[in-house]
Amino acid sequence: MAGTKITAILRVDPQQPEAAVIARAAAVLRAGGLVAFPTETVYGLGANALDSAAVQGIFAAKERPAYDPLIVHLGQVAELLQVAATCPPVAETLAARFWPGSLTLVLPKHARVPAVVTAGGETVAVRVPQHPVALALIRAAGVPVAAPSANRFGRLSPTCAADVLAELDGRVDLILDAGPTPVGVESTVLSLVTEPPTILRPGGVSREALIEVLGPVALLEQPVTAEQIAPAPGTLAQHYAPRARLVLYQGERRAVLATMREDALALQAQGVRVGLWLADEDLPEVAALDVFTVAAGPAADLEQVARQLFATLRQLDEAGVAVILARDLGAQGIGLAIRDRLTRAAGGHVIQVA
Ligand code: AMP
Ligand code: MG
Repeated sequence: MAGTKITAILRVDPQQPEAAVIARAAAVLRAGGLVAFPTETVYGLGANALDSAAVQGIFAAKERPAYDPLIVHLGQVAELLQVAATCPPVAETLAARFWPGSLTLVLPKHARVPAVVTAGGETVAVRVPQHPVALALIRAAGVPVAAPSANRFGRLSPTCAADVLAELDGRVDLILDAGPTPVGVESTVLSLVTEPPTILRPGGVSREALIEVLGPVALLEQPVTAEQIAPAPGTLAQHYAPRARLVLYQGERRAVLATMREDALALQAQGVRVGLWLADEDLPEVAALDVFTVAAGPAADLEQVARQLFATLRQLDEAGVAVILARDLGAQGIGLAIRDRLTRAAGGHVIQVA
């Protein structure tokens, strides 16, 4: 799809969104148009979830395959039964604890939700986002809003309006610009149609926080291979990917850094442009190398690393590196989501350093 729309960009206050701006964006949604808007996780590409043609527009704009279902965003917890057929007590408990917030629940779908939203499946993914702009927009539109991340399929998720424009100029009617998104990685997708509940995609709400409320929680382990076709939703091996090839290094910090240094030098000797993605405190360890390096944030503050994750990967792309060597920073809290995105960006190319 070539860009055929004229994309307007409106600035909006992230804390107190201006009513006139929100009203204009809500009118676009009600008329079947596409609005990119900030959520606390990343920017979303929204359409009226009950309007099949509008939702088709999301798939066209993103060049997203029809087998990858969308998350439906609600303005109120009380609207859950408008899109889900049933609401088990566990969903109520989770909604009370985590909504509005970065937790998406997968439940049996209501007949009213068009098949295109759920990729023909019998379940629907739903959440109430926390960002004041997202909430104001959905409430003003008065309809559930289907919204995946506002990037072309398989690419890095946008965490600011400029990132959205770079991906979707001419493909979206309106972009609401409220500055950078506070969480930086997508929502945690939790299936409640399995026993115990299963994390299908780690994200903004940690596994530890879910276990505190639910007890046992399964984590979908993906044997990610590039050959998989039509895999479980959101489990594509190559996803959230920069243009450069990414290799993820796991293991004890000193050993990992030594291996990364060696590999960077070996690649450079072959004429390959290499970039490093490291924790702030790792920088002195590579200072002697002449390698483009981005500091992802302190390893002790993975919330900050998450906030900057997609922007730092974009920086490496913009620097024109062909290969990114990234250090795994652990799986604690939001670290699990960071590891998940880096593993997917690596297309499963993970090196275990002994
Ligand atoms: P995005 O917001 O671009 O990350 O895309 C939405 C993601 O939500 C999908 O890729 C899936 O991971 C997940 N999702 C949406 N609907 C369902 C569903 N019915 N069952 C399982 N996962 C879903
Ligand atoms: Mg996405």
